[in-house]
Amino acid sequence: DDFVSAELGPIITENVKLAHYTVPTPVQKYAVPIIHAGRDIMSCAQTGSGKTAAFLMPMLSNIFHNPGKIPRHQSRKAYPLALVLSPTRELTNQIYQEALKFAYRSKVRPCVIYGGADVGEQLRDLSRGCHLLVATPGRLADFLERGKVGLEFCRFLCLDEADRMLDMGFEPQIRRIIEKVIFPSDRQTLMFSATFPKQIQALASDFLDNYIFLAV
Ligand code: AMP
Repeated sequence: DDFVSAELGPIITENVKLAHYTVPTPVQKYAVPIIHAGRDIMSCAQTGSGKTAAFLMPMLSNIFHNPGKIPRHQSRKAYPLALVLSPTRELTNQIYQEALKFAYRSKVRPCVIYGGADVGEQLRDLSRGCHLLVATPGRLADFLERGKVGLEFCRFLCLDEADRMLDMGFEPQIRRIIEKVIFPSDRQTLMFSATFPKQIQALASDFLDNYIFLAV
């Protein structure tokens, strides 16, 4: 079985090999072409399904091949092209580690921010350039308010483990970020959740545009 990465270009293809991923998992097989085609998606996916690579590969591939004008940091403010929101420090770090693998030997620089850790160090890291930001909602809301992050160039928004984020009480921060912060008008939105209670369906219909529902 060919890995889904062929259409994603040489950097991803090479880095998928380095990661020793040989066979795509079901969520990778079905979600990658949908995301690659530019569609919004709401996908049912558990931890361990390979969902992280399923959203990182097409997002990073898009950034590699259409960098546009990657804004250089202005007055120490970061302008990521892609944003992943995730509920916990642990998950946020796992996504960041996976992003580092796929961005290896590219010009794309991933960053990670989460609560309960030193703000100064995270700000210094952001100021070195940030193309893909992995964040917990609380810390991102804080950095947005302080003017340390701008989402005007952020073409991808991914909500990972959306149900856990709601369980942890992050819905107000998530809604504030998406409703109050300016994104590009052609933003592509991806949502992953293990379960689909009413509040998750409401988030999807509020923030996704003509989305494809994928249950694997
Ligand atoms: P996730 O569900 O994204 O947390 O991924 C679970 C684990 O599976 C992670 O350790 C990944 O590195 C690994 N993984 C993801 N996709 C593949 C694949 N296609 N082949 C082998 N391992 C994978």
